[in-house]
This record gives sequence, structure tokens and C-alpha cells, in this order.
Amino acid sequence: MPENAENGATAADCLFCKIVAGEIPSNLVYEGERVIAFRDINPQAPMHVLVVPRAHAPNLAATAAADPGLVGELATVAAEVAGEEGYSDYNVVANTGSEAGQTIFHTHLHVLGGRKLTSLTNLPG
Ligand code: 5GP
Ligand code: ZN
Repeated sequence: MPENAENGATAADCLFCKIVAGEIPSNLVYEGERVIAFRDINPQAPMHVLVVPRAHAPNLAATAAADPGLVGELATVAAEVAGEEGYSDYNVVANTGSEAGQTIFHTHLHVLGGRKLTSLTNLPG
């Protein structure tokens, strides 16, 4: 059976699965057993890092359903990366669904620092 973005396995056509596999280069800032983090290619803030589970799932809710502990790990890595980048204060955004601006259907947290998000209208995505 072909693997795809819906079944939770590595998706052959998923950009972030390819980054996880090292098939596409990225600017990694964290590499763990179950989570990686790398700089967004189109940063919307002075710090704009994507925190990504290695396991493919289409969005944060799907990751939560499959493995709630992994969502905790994502939050912990977001805090660690922000801290290492010098940001005690930062924003975490998880666009879910195309109408909400999601363009990559592999779970990721945007971790943003150094830009004041004064309203929900200037969030990236
Ligand atoms: P979404 O719109 O799905 O919430 O966020 C996807 C993010 O992935 C965007 O902020 C976009 O700039 C970023 N992105 C898209 N392609 C690449 C890539 O090839 N490398 C990196 N590092 N980021 C990417
Ligand atoms: Zn994927």
C-alpha cells in the first residue's frame, strides 16, 4: 500500500518528511530522537523556527490524537530553542487547515521571537 500524508507514515511527497530524512537541506537548530527544529525559509520574525515531529501527521491535532506526549515534546523543544536563541518571550503558532493558512501538511509549530504580535491579524501564514 502506498504511504501517504493521511496514514501517519512517512509521506513520499511530504516536504518536511524529506527534511526529516535529510533528503532536502535545512538550517537545523535542534535534532532530537523524535523532534527536529530548523529555521523557516521565509522568516516572519527575527527568530522564526519550525519545530517538527519526525513522525508524519498532517497537523497538530492529528499528532495529539496519535501521541499526546509528542505534543508536549514539541512545546518543550520550542521553549529550548527560543531560550538558546535568547528569547524568553516568544509566540507559538500552529496553522491547522488551508483556510487557516496551513501550506505544509506535516505537523509543525512556528516559534517566533523578536516581533510583537499585537493582533491576530499579523500572524504569519
Ligand atoms: P504553514 O503555512 O504550513 O503553517 O507553514 C509552512 C512554513 O514552511 C512556511 O512558513 C514556509 O515559509 C516554510 N517552508 C516552506 N518550504 C520550506 C523549506 O523548503 N524549508 C524551510 N526551512 N521552510 C519552508
Ligand atoms: Zn511528512
